[in-house]
Amino acid sequence: MKYYHGIPVSPGVAIGLVTVLANNRVSVRRRMIEPSQVPSELQRLDDAFERAQSSIVKSRDEASEQIGEQYGRIFDAHLMFLQDPSLRRMIENAITNEHVSAEYAAATAFDYYAQRLRSLPDATYAERASDVADVKDCLLSELTLVARDEVAESENRSILAASFLAPSEASKLDAEKTLAIITENGGRGSHTAIVASALGIPTVVGLGPFLSDVYDNCLAIVDGDKGQLILDPTLEVVEEYQRKLDALKEDRRRRLQMSRKLYATTTDGVDVAVEANIEFPYEAKKCVEYGAVGIGLYRTEFLYLTDTNGVLPDEETHFKAYREVLSTMGHDRLTVIRTFDLGADKIPEGRSFAREKEPNPFMGLRSVRLSLRRTDMFREQLRAILRASVYGKCAVMFPLVTTIREWRQAKMIFHDVCEEFVEKNAPFDSNIPLGIMVETPAAVVMLDQFAREVDFFSIGTNDLLQYTQAVDRSNKEVNSLYAQESPALLRLIRRTIEVANTYGRPTAVCGQMASVPANVPLLLGLGLRALSVSPESILETKEICEWFSIQECETIARQALMMETADDVRAYLRESLNRKRSEVVPSSSDAT
Ligand code: PEP
Ligand code: MG
Repeated sequence: MKYYHGIPVSPGVAIGLVTVLANNRVSVRRRMIEPSQVPSELQRLDDAFERAQSSIVKSRDEASEQIGEQYGRIFDAHLMFLQDPSLRRMIENAITNEHVSAEYAAATAFDYYAQRLRSLPDATYAERASDVADVKDCLLSELTLVARDEVAESENRSILAASFLAPSEASKLDAEKTLAIITENGGRGSHTAIVASALGIPTVVGLGPFLSDVYDNCLAIVDGDKGQLILDPTLEVVEEYQRKLDALKEDRRRRLQMSRKLYATTTDGVDVAVEANIEFPYEAKKCVEYGAVGIGLYRTEFLYLTDTNGVLPDEETHFKAYREVLSTMGHDRLTVIRTFDLGADKIPEGRSFAREKEPNPFMGLRSVRLSLRRTDMFREQLRAILRASVYGKCAVMFPLVTTIREWRQAKMIFHDVCEEFVEKNAPFDSNIPLGIMVETPAAVVMLDQFAREVDFFSIGTNDLLQYTQAVDRSNKEVNSLYAQESPALLRLIRRTIEVANTYGRPTAVCGQMASVPANVPLLLGLGLRALSVSPESILETKEICEWFSIQECETIARQALMMETADDVRAYLRESLNRKRSEVVPSSSDAT
């Protein structure tokens, strides 16, 4: 039995067999084979070479077609390395004479080859070493592990293990078949984490190197609450976790029955709107079932990230998705549709919007910047929103607005599209509120400018934290700086609410911060009355709001604002919630 600790990003417990995703950063263990297995191992190698060749040819053709032949030619170099007879001989000799597995033989031979290239004085050869590494990854993927595409087709429910999972890959997972996700890399704020939580899949990321210890179909337990992975657990441990699973199910059933009131009311009678963040239209039903007041954030970019075979969604696809959400939420529950936040880590498969590869995509052409560059896509989306607007009550929100000019341009395009509808006499809601996400320090500093013009704000703490702390939200190396209890972030939130209140602009928080139970009283104490959380967190968030008075929350916020470090704030918030929990639910244990 082996324990690993990582970052818990989506709660829940899963017990099951592991499927290791084909991955390009896998470390390979030295595995010996019996001499009698040599022929079958050589056959396996042969098959893998063939599949790798087809895969590279496919990549070449796709790259040539989509981004130009000069990019396609990169893959010709890959083919050349794959077909190098001396390399192939080296691998076969190792299998035949040293009796090592095909994976190990291939990894060693490719590493040696890359090392030789790196040591050559000519820099052009040295650069080719990374191509050799790519070819190695491709061959290893074919040799060792389940290809990513096959996962979707597999009938078994399993725990998916990978070095890293892109948001576009996560969004294609079938929640019914995926018991849990475990990755070596990734941070708390990564979009993969957000998608996993939307799908309700227990997930632990940033576990560090564990892939060399797993194999397909090994038994594992994933604890998405504690951030723990247990490989090859003993029977006793499995039984202990099975009991935990049963208790969780029972607890959930009880809460669902309890939460029938729409607004959560604090003990001193203040209503709090607990809303939901969604990525996929089908989630709207769940939001109604869990008692969300509305949808505070609909991340529409996921329409571009699900299986589209490289084709961008057209107006009709957008329209159908929005109509589904709005008809489910109806006219009593507001749905805030955020225009596509593409770019950074959310790039549709095989498609980049930037003219050149961006060295720093999180600082680059993403969100509203991309909408203003690709006004064709932006207008198409806005038209679909307007068409769907008659089916429910919606607001439109622009992401990552940093300057007043961006806001005005986006608003102008919105009104221009409205004009088209008026001219055509097409039905639409002519009173759609327009707002922006507050996601950068610039937006906070300039908030009074925006407050004069927008209808509402929503604080995106995931990005606000990333840009305030200058820390990549999905990089586990700097995860400790990505603390949602950062005193700097708290001050920015406080200022946002102060300015927004001065201008009477409703403000919500839709970053992951609001989905953390211990942060709920803090956010209420900072003045928020609308929290948009992941659907799985709605019930608990409402419950916590009902435990506190606003006065108690304000005391908590005041104390937290005086603290120097995120660790101090976190410890204090947890302690405050636990104390309250033990008063309200005397038999409770520490659950923050
Ligand atoms: C945020 O940045 O807090 C947010 C809600 O947007 P996203 O996570 O989609 O970037
Ligand atoms: Mg954001």
